[in-house]
Amino acid sequence: MRSSTLKLIVLLATILTTLIVIVQLYWLKKVYSFEEKQFNNNVVRSIRGVFEDLQMNDNPSMIFQQLIASPGPNYYIFKADTLPLKDSLSFYLQREFADFNVTTDCKLAAYSKDLKKYIYAKYIPAAATNYPGQEVSDFPVFDDDFDHILLYFPHRSNYILGQMNFWIISSIILFITLIGLAVSLFYFYRQKFLSEIQKDFVNNFTHEFKTPLAVMKIASEVLAQSSIVHQPDKLQRYTEIIKNQTEHLQNQVGRLLKAASSDNTDLHIEKENINAHQLIEQALDKVQPLIEEKNAKVEIRVGGTSEQMFADKAHLELAVVNLLENALKYSSDPHIVVEAGKSEKDFFIKIKDNGIGIEKKYIKNIFKKFYRIPTGDVHNVKGFGLGLNFVKRIIDAHDGKIKVNSIPGIGTEFKLLIPVN
Ligand code: ADP
Repeated sequence: MRSSTLKLIVLLATILTTLIVIVQLYWLKKVYSFEEKQFNNNVVRSIRGVFEDLQMNDNPSMIFQQLIASPGPNYYIFKADTLPLKDSLSFYLQREFADFNVTTDCKLAAYSKDLKKYIYAKYIPAAATNYPGQEVSDFPVFDDDFDHILLYFPHRSNYILGQMNFWIISSIILFITLIGLAVSLFYFYRQKFLSEIQKDFVNNFTHEFKTPLAVMKIASEVLAQSSIVHQPDKLQRYTEIIKNQTEHLQNQVGRLLKAASSDNTDLHIEKENINAHQLIEQALDKVQPLIEEKNAKVEIRVGGTSEQMFADKAHLELAVVNLLENALKYSSDPHIVVEAGKSEKDFFIKIKDNGIGIEKKYIKNIFKKFYRIPTGDVHNVKGFGLGLNFVKRIIDAHDGKIKVNSIPGIGTEFKLLIPVN
């Protein structure tokens, strides 16, 4: 499976999961509203039953709905022409609650408009209540124009949630399953990503080693011919080829080993005074074969020939070699400018090329280990994606910074900054 297909699958799965979660939450809210309504109906029916049992209303033609109100989510008040006795009210209320399945605790109180206060109150625990018996505290007065009974359900929300047990448990199971799926997908994606990196690495490795080995094989076959001893020029040329390719292979192996062995450990830095011009010249020597191969133009601009820096010579040279190699690799007709100098706070080395450039969105990734910009068919430059990672580690070890300026199609500039102190 290609990584773009996998990305699409992951994206679709994420959208689908989000939709499922939204729909499930929507249904939970709907069920809650439904249960709330159901509870409300049951309470109203119980109150109607109490009205009929205790004949609390002098005017039977009065519409029942006008006698009852719910001033808050947990409160009901109902008008009573005659306030019943506390015990008979609580007895009938309990009976009606049982009939209409209102099985949560309730506090009741009777308000007298003449006395302007609640004249009695009682806590009615539900049959299977889990809550400890409670004191009847002061009630708010919602309406003081008429005698009325107030009902307060302190645990109404928990009771409604309790009625939704099935929905809540099934939603939790669904969410856990979705989280499990998301985690598996993440690991699968990561595994796939790692295996692609590995595949790329093996491909690049094969390419990097196959070509020099093939060249060496041909050269050694030429050298094996007996007639070669009579052609000293040819002998020297082919010996040179084998020497160059061996050096190239040695460099590659050395770099790979360095990158692998110094994994995650800090580089050991030994600072000394170094001559910037010399450092750049030595780095250029290392990439001379590539400069020749590409017929590259290289300009060196150093403040003064004796411009001094204080850094780890071997590592800094390696960083410059890596940047020069990239500048050459990623430019078709290279014109490279190398600058070095000292500002107030930093020593700097700039390497500017006129190559293919780097799109802005990739810049944050190029320093990651094994990262290579996906270029499709644009170019087929080979590499291991280790060079810039190593440069970053060298500069990090100096507490320095790397700045990248790049315009696709125009070129790239890497600026290494190493603090003076
Ligand atoms: P590689 O071995 O692929 O060159 P690097 O770590 O050196 O690995 O670079 C990472 C990626 O950054 C490269 O694959 C390349 O796409 C991009 N890159 C680095 N330097 C340049 C440059 N000077 N111009 C254009 N692209 C570059």
